Amino acid sequence: MTEQESTHPEGSIFKTDGSSKPCRACADFKTWMKLGGPTSSKTNNSKQSQEEKPKETNNTKDNIVNIDSKADTSSKEKTSETKRENIESPVLDLAVRDQKAAICPPDSLELGSATWTFLHSVAAYYPDNPTDQHKQDALNLINSLPRLYPCAPCAEDLAVDLPNHPPQVENSKQFSEWMCRLHNRVNVKLGKPEFDCSKVFLRWRYGWEDGSCD
Ligand code: FAD
Repeated sequence: MTEQESTHPEGSIFKTDGSSKPCRACADFKTWMKLGGPTSSKTNNSKQSQEEKPKETNNTKDNIVNIDSKADTSSKEKTSETKRENIESPVLDLAVRDQKAAICPPDSLELGSATWTFLHSVAAYYPDNPTDQHKQDALNLINSLPRLYPCAPCAEDLAVDLPNHPPQVENSKQFSEWMCRLHNRVNVKLGKPEFDCSKVFLRWRYGWEDGSCD
């Protein structure tokens, strides 16, 4: 679903300010930067004073400096433009992303990956014999996503998908496989390979049989 087609699910947290600028959690980092990046956020958050912003620790500052010094130790004083060029470098891309992930708000990829980790883990550790309370909690968790998941286009697609594929929460196997199929539908939509759902417990609970996760 595109931003323009966006019709936020009723009761969702995405009542916008009318701005056409993407939220950071709705776009991957490079797209967000191309569309204005921090400038758009600052514009939207112009009321937030410098004093309100969380103070960076020395460690945080050191981390940022270290990224740049790895890139080019000869020039100590980097402009923000140079930093953007570094982010485009394939070699530095992953290192910069890792550093940024530790201290910056997530983009859509980081948010997605972290959310899938949480959701698959919840399903993998869900009881084999859940109580009615467990079942209701699981249903509430999944059914709240169209209103709460902070990537609006993703949430809107979920609002369409879930009624067609209601959560199955009778036991851990059923819930895990249902979650796997949900993730696969998103994978297909994004042109990514489908995951073999018979291996969902190896991926999210026990680790692979070859011992590579031990
Ligand atoms: P991810 O897709 O995040 O997967 C993380 C890991 O999960 C993989 O490395 C793999 O080991 C494992 N995995 C992959 N598939 C499965 C599966 N089927 N079952 C079990 N494990 C699996 N992005 C969009 O651009 N548009 C959307 O509409 C959209 N909707 C989303 C809806 C939800 C509920 C969530 C949580 C995320 C959504 N995302 C969406 C984000 C998207 O799915 C990815 O998280 C993001 O693109 C990052 O992908 P990734 O390559 O890091 O791997």
